[in-house]
Amino acid sequence: MTSPDIGANGVPDLPEYAPVPPIAKGPALNEHGYHVRQVERNLYAVTDNVYMSAFLTTPEGVVIFDAPPNIGHNIRRAVDEITGANGLTNQVTHLVYSHHHADHQGASSLFGGDVVRIGHEETRRLLLRDDDPTRPAPDVTFADQYTLEVGGERVELAWHGPNHSPDNIYIHFPDHDTLMFIDVVNAGWVPIYNVNLSEDVQGYIAAPDTALSYPWTHFICGHLGRLATRDDVAVHQQYIADIEASSREALASVDPTPFYMRYGENAWVWRDGTARPWAAYRLT
Ligand SMILES: [Zn+2]
Repeated sequence: MTSPDIGANGVPDLPEYAPVPPIAKGPALNEHGYHVRQVERNLYAVTDNVYMSAFLTTPEGVVIFDAPPNIGHNIRRAVDEITGANGLTNQVTHLVYSHHHADHQGASSLFGGDVVRIGHEETRRLLLRDDDPTRPAPDVTFADQYTLEVGGERVELAWHGPNHSPDNIYIHFPDHDTLMFIDVVNAGWVPIYNVNLSEDVQGYIAAPDTALSYPWTHFICGHLGRLATRDDVAVHQQYIADIEASSREALASVDPTPFYMRYGENAWVWRDGTARPWAAYRLT
């Protein structure tokens, strides 16, 4: 019986790849397991180095943007820490949903029933369908654009078509030089499998152009520990373009017909072992 070579520390020997660069790693977390940073003025981002959400402090209350359950109660701790230090109210009055996914909104219910929840109309439809008590459906919805004004601050919400999810919106902070757009670009990392689990791949591929059409310096992408830059978005676009180009090249030079034929009669092969027309069509 053979087994993989085991290294001195009990871990299987693996090929050597370049180490993860420091810029791809997040900041040190505090004793509760979070890090909160000022993005610009009274806009803050909180992370556990896996997920990221944001909040805006105002004299009239705090607006939270996404409530990932990974960060959970630490969102409240971060809000208390910042508002306490600045002598502002820690009352959370509004919660904005970037999209309906549980991994970004599953801590919404921690903020109770008196919070005004805002999201795209499709977010509301999907959350009513999902009927998840941790993600109450938004009360205030919009189709294309919505301007949120709280305590003298302005946030522009916009839907420009489906991408990662059908309801994923662009959250622009025009007075904070920031765009929040979740689950498309992963700051300093490649997307996870199937282009970040996207439901509309063409929409996903086109979305970074829309993100770059806004003026901003700071980009909150929803994952990992740091803010993204315009260069990060450009590198992401180049990465996706490379995949697209190499896929086209591979499809033009690989003929999978022998593989279909080898496994006998099936959906892709006639009884005599030749490829069915639609299988042949798939190769062109
Ligand atoms: Zn998502």
